[in-house]
Amino acid sequence: MEAGADIVTGAEGRLLERRSGLWRITTTSGVFESRMIVNCAGLHSDRIVTMAGGNPGCRIVPFRGEYHRLSPEREHLVRHLIYPLPEPGFPFLGVHFTRRTGGGIDAGPNAVLAFAREGYDLATINLLDLSSALTFPGLWYFVAKYPHMVARELGQSFDRRRFVTALQRLVPEVSHQDLVPSGSGVRAQAMDARGELINDFVWSQSPGAVHVINAPSPAATASLVIGGEIATQVQNQLVR
Ligand SMILES: Cc1cc2nc3c(=O)[nH]c(=O)nc-3n(C[C@H](O)[C@H](O)[C@H](O)COP(=O)(O)OP(=O)(O)OC[C@H]3O[C@@H](n4cnc5c(N)ncnc54)[C@H](O)[C@@H]3O)c2cc1C
Repeated sequence: MEAGADIVTGAEGRLLERRSGLWRITTTSGVFESRMIVNCAGLHSDRIVTMAGGNPGCRIVPFRGEYHRLSPEREHLVRHLIYPLPEPGFPFLGVHFTRRTGGGIDAGPNAVLAFAREGYDLATINLLDLSSALTFPGLWYFVAKYPHMVARELGQSFDRRRFVTALQRLVPEVSHQDLVPSGSGVRAQAMDARGELINDFVWSQSPGAVHVINAPSPAATASLVIGGEIATQVQNQLVR
């Protein structure tokens, strides 16, 4: 900002064209030109790589994480962060209890294959996203490899009692009546063509572009360091 930058929010990138070393970026808020682009588009990062003429080498598959809140009168049951032991063959952490710094206790998240990249609830279906996911062989390999996990997590989304059963492995006293639904997030999870989840950061660079293709947890915790690394990569390209 001090160097004279403008920040434009709510501008969806729709088209990227590169001519004579300059990007022309068509967005819902107008057209911009730039020597560099940085792609940190989360659930759409692979599509932005393709839009920029590259090959992401993986596919973003959306996994919704649903949360419940423990009712205030039952908060005494959870005095610490409570995590399950890692489960061999289960690629996510599993539902757990988290004390919030501002008060309140979160229970979750599960890991439900979403029917839309921005599928923040079970009812949200995007036919374009769904057909692109269903024609991706990696997804079928994944489902074949983890059928019980896929069914269990989907079941927990349909039926809160199953969600509670998973939580009761950590705190047996928790019951169905103690939980209030409290929103969700969608993990932008990169998957390779063999159905393996990519659990590390995936970056790529091309002339005039830095792409953060996969930034799974703990990318939020590590965001300042990641931001520093992005800035370094951009600077290195600009001084070449
Ligand atoms: C349920 C859940 C729990 C998590 N728990 C943790 C945790 O405990 N600790 C942790 O560190 N991380 C956690 N994460 C992961 C963390 O949220 C991500 O690692 C982090 O948000 C990645 O940041 P990002 O900036 O790469 O992408 P995002 O935060 O997804 O941001 C991407 C942005 O790009 C924008 N965008 C997309 N397409 C376009 C386009 N075409 N044009 C313009 N803008 C576009 C989107 O609107 C969005 O604002 C969790 C995630 C979920 C879903």
